[in-house]
Amino acid sequence: MERGLYIVPTPIGNLGDITQRALEILAAVTLIAAEDTRHSRKLLTHYGIETPLSAYHDHIPETVTQQFLQRMAEGDSIALISDAGTPLVSDPGFRLVRAAQDAGIPIIPLPGPCAAVTALSAAGLPTDHFFFEGFLPAKPAARRGRLQALLRQSGTLIMYEAPHRIAATLGDAVHIFGEHREAVVARELSKAFETIRRGTLGDLLSWVTGDTNQQRGEQVLLIGPAEEASATTQLDERDERLLFRLADELPPRKAAAIAADLTGLRSRDLYSLLVDREKV
Ligand code: SAM
Repeated sequence: MERGLYIVPTPIGNLGDITQRALEILAAVTLIAAEDTRHSRKLLTHYGIETPLSAYHDHIPETVTQQFLQRMAEGDSIALISDAGTPLVSDPGFRLVRAAQDAGIPIIPLPGPCAAVTALSAAGLPTDHFFFEGFLPAKPAARRGRLQALLRQSGTLIMYEAPHRIAATLGDAVHIFGEHREAVVARELSKAFETIRRGTLGDLLSWVTGDTNQQRGEQVLLIGPAEEASATTQLDERDERLLFRLADELPPRKAAAIAADLTGLRSRDLYSLLVDREKV
């Protein structure tokens, strides 16, 4: 096999979701670098793969990275796996991939499961543009700040969330995006209690708070884009300063109308922007 670092996605719930090529690579490499060796051993045992495992995660000493690089420089091949899904997607591996690239070691990525893309494929939200946020901050103030920043992002937003925070995050999203914004909660994908629900943020918040079962298991939250291309996606910093400065002196409708004249943007989009700002 070709010497190098193989990036190998593993199932996100259903053990059957692993490609033929992934299994062949995992059986053929000299070493598998795994986020959690005990966790990954179960998957490998299921498929009768006996390749040695070594831990690789964000807290591993730099010397381990150097040892892996040395081995690959000498002709070994290593497969990187995480606990579930695609390594490096909200998972460890970035430092190793970069260091291997810099050392001239081939990186061979395999396509495979990823909770974000799986959720997006079934969400029923626009997919022409999407933005992967990963995990939001756990602390409420920082989380709201991040959601506020995402208000300017176009396309569908995709977030990973811990089950015990899904209700709080939906609450914050209602506050910032408004209760009518369309969203999806995709829970336990490919597992027995798989649930994919589309609704407004307000509906989803009531549903999740009214049924504690919805606050269990692994969760992806997707927030659809604003109905029309809104001013938030087009407003540059100077226009935004102008709008907000006008709004300091004038009622929001008047400020939006003048800013629309000066920028060529739509008055009602600018007005929504001001209203959204007021809600925070
Ligand atoms: N690398 C993984 C990937 O490719 O999706 C993600 C790893 S990240 C540490 C784990 C998070 O992914 C979970 O907290 C959850 O938000 C999401 N996730 C993973 N598996 C999932 C599943 N079966 N259903 C829904 N979300 C899942």
